[in-house]
Amino acid sequence: MAWRRRHVLQLGVIACAMLLALAVGGVGSLAQAQRSLEELPQPVRLKLPPGLARYTYDKSAGDYFEEIEPLLPGGAYAQWAFYPVPVYIQGDHPQWKAFVERAVKEWSAYIPLKVVAKEEEAFYGMSIYRVPPIGEGIAGAARPEFFFAADGSLQQRVRIVIAEGQGLAEVTAVARHEIGHGLGLWGHSPNPRDLMYGGHHAEATGNRRLLRVPTITKRDLNTLKRVYEQPTLMGQVFPESYRRLFGQVREEIPAPG
Ligand SMILES: [Zn+2]
Repeated sequence: MAWRRRHVLQLGVIACAMLLALAVGGVGSLAQAQRSLEELPQPVRLKLPPGLARYTYDKSAGDYFEEIEPLLPGGAYAQWAFYPVPVYIQGDHPQWKAFVERAVKEWSAYIPLKVVAKEEEAFYGMSIYRVPPIGEGIAGAARPEFFFAADGSLQQRVRIVIAEGQGLAEVTAVARHEIGHGLGLWGHSPNPRDLMYGGHHAEATGNRRLLRVPTITKRDLNTLKRVYEQPTLMGQVFPESYRRLFGQVREEIPAPG
């Protein structure tokens, strides 16, 4: 698990590090890439996750969609293409796990998530780990990994780390924020009242308590809804030449249906 420390980006004094090391970018000659790009599937709009479909965009609250990074080729946004998304939570501290589960449950109202007992069950999902203090005021981090399943479909998994040495209420808050990234909010809100604000633990304000335990706001949900309304490449089958070029085929476990 050494990568967690090694790859944590130093983004100034912020509470959360998004680790956007993309596997899909890969290597290969430009000529090869261009030839392959012609064969790429077109982004498609997926069916909205049930809770998000029921949620009505609140125009008065607005959103911070422009802060979200499109992580996929062609400016497409990362989304989960199947539900429920399996979530593995490190289990050796049952109380800690219970407080992380609270955050999983809150998000499940919008995008179905399912806590699984074994790490390998979250191969196409999210895994959440407890790690020694990261330093630099960073309370947690999330990292997406994109790869092709054996059937050629583009899949992702997300690894989340939460630093030790925090109170249990904060563990829930940090998990809530990092899971927000994992669900597709790969960016930070400029508004300190939003869950996805990037500097919660770094703010020295009179309202620190509020900032340290933020909840999912309408602006967070508005933004997530907009992300899932965008066409995506997730779950789509890529041509074999492209998969070979980028060498990201995982054969071990069948792709989710
Ligand atoms: Zn963050």
